[in-house]
Amino acid sequence: MFHNVLPFILKIKSISFEPFNNSSPMKYISTLVFYFCLISFSFAQQKKVLVILVDGIPYDVIKKVKTPNITKIAQKGALDKAYVGGEKGGKTESPTISAVGYNSMLTGTWANKHNVWGNGIEAPNYNYPTFFRVFREAKPNLKLGIFSTWLDNRTKLLGEGLVATNNLHIDYKFDGYEKDTVAFPHDKNALYIKNIDEHVTSMAVETIRENAPDISWVYLEYTDDMGHRFGDSPEFYQSVENMDRLVGKMYEAVQYREKNFKEDWLVIITTDHGRDAQTGKNHGGQSDRERETWIAINKKPKNTRFKNGLAIVDVFPSVCKFLNIGIPKSVKENLEGVSFF
Ligand SMILES: [Zn+2]
Repeated sequence: MFHNVLPFILKIKSISFEPFNNSSPMKYISTLVFYFCLISFSFAQQKKVLVILVDGIPYDVIKKVKTPNITKIAQKGALDKAYVGGEKGGKTESPTISAVGYNSMLTGTWANKHNVWGNGIEAPNYNYPTFFRVFREAKPNLKLGIFSTWLDNRTKLLGEGLVATNNLHIDYKFDGYEKDTVAFPHDKNALYIKNIDEHVTSMAVETIRENAPDISWVYLEYTDDMGHRFGDSPEFYQSVENMDRLVGKMYEAVQYREKNFKEDWLVIITTDHGRDAQTGKNHGGQSDRERETWIAINKKPKNTRFKNGLAIVDVFPSVCKFLNIGIPKSVKENLEGVSFF
């Protein structure tokens, strides 16, 4: 940013040299104040956001399993119970299914508005835009990134390149590896999904360190696969520990940027649904454990929302508030979430 502003400062200085020589002290002081403001502005910290969605981890599991990296992040900020699924029995009630949850996070609305009711993603209602799109339209030159173990997150939910999303462009995209059976041969134990999560994480780490997209979304899937396969079990808990290790790598990249560049990063980690209480193998329904999720952040919340009614739909307004993006009125009046900043 400074590089862009420097020539401007020099130019202003050269044309306004006169006040230094022959004018009143007031003019002199106001000129100094002007330079000071300009220089402060040019050194302002750039704000960046990293959202990590890890699949299908109930609140009780994130509390029970050792996740030192998420714990470290939450010590700086917060980790609390949240919910998915809209209002139980009400018009916003939404299935506790993966793509439904992702889209509630992305659009800040429930399924009755965004119209994604299952993983088929048949007819998303793009009139409820994602925060990626709101950001793109507010700040066309800034950069967006997606790092995902599921291709549909970009092509269908974000709707990259579609007329209905105003041809949303994503600058950094690393996904679709689940379709590449040569690099990631499918095995019956779904180890290839674990390997894809690892690869997606490496791409996120590299891109954050080198390019620092303004908003990044990372999606990791392996935990849900182990949940479906083994239910509440050592295998599932191990997959949660493994996820935490990957989160730690990405957080290191964030800390590298903060230390070496003038950047201020918000990291949000959350999940799309819980699991059934009986076995832990299933989800989709409206039981307490399927609806009960969590959100972890590396910044202190600025109001009581984090402790009181926190929901996956709160991510959208919180990201916009942190990045200081004005949400268009027509979008804002449809949001179901509340900013925790
Ligand atoms: Zn899921």
